[in-house]
Amino acid sequence: MTTLPIYLFGNIELKTVAKKVVKLYPDDLQFIKNMFETMKNSNGIGLAANQVGVLKQILVIDISEHEDGEGVKPFVIINPVVKKQQGSWVMEEGCLSIPGIRADVERAEKISIKYLDELFNEHHKTFSGLLARVILHEIDHLNGILFIEHLTSKKRKELRSELINIKKGEVKINYSVVVSKQKLE
Ligand SMILES: [Zn+2]
Repeated sequence: MTTLPIYLFGNIELKTVAKKVVKLYPDDLQFIKNMFETMKNSNGIGLAANQVGVLKQILVIDISEHEDGEGVKPFVIINPVVKKQQGSWVMEEGCLSIPGIRADVERAEKISIKYLDELFNEHHKTFSGLLARVILHEIDHLNGILFIEHLTSKKRKELRSELINIKKGEVKINYSVVVSKQKLE
């Protein structure tokens, strides 16, 4: 297994909508294993393919180390479609692509989604609490949306200088990253 570098805020891949997976090739299965390895290595609880520069609708989840995730096995979600969202709650979120920044985000408390697993079997499942939140955060990634886009413009202004530092790659982290090649605004 290989650990993949994580694309930092500023990379265009994080602002791009990922494509549906039509067929899974052996390379894709290896890629999914690498995604799990990468998430583990960076202590993440979720990782979307965009975050490692691959524009496919694949995300991995592992909340087993979290206090709310005891007994929940890590799993992969391919081509997710949100069918229903209910309730709302606020929790502080962070993101491996935006290290060092944490902020309260309001999301649905309960979601029903349709998705495929690594064998391309279709599932219709309902998730709530932390799992629902992580899944929605990662589905946002597949749609080119970052959690900071859920914040008020006032809050985003407060984070501006920190975001610029991340764009420049001036962050202290213990996992390998890809820094944006884009010019700073
Ligand atoms: Zn994220």
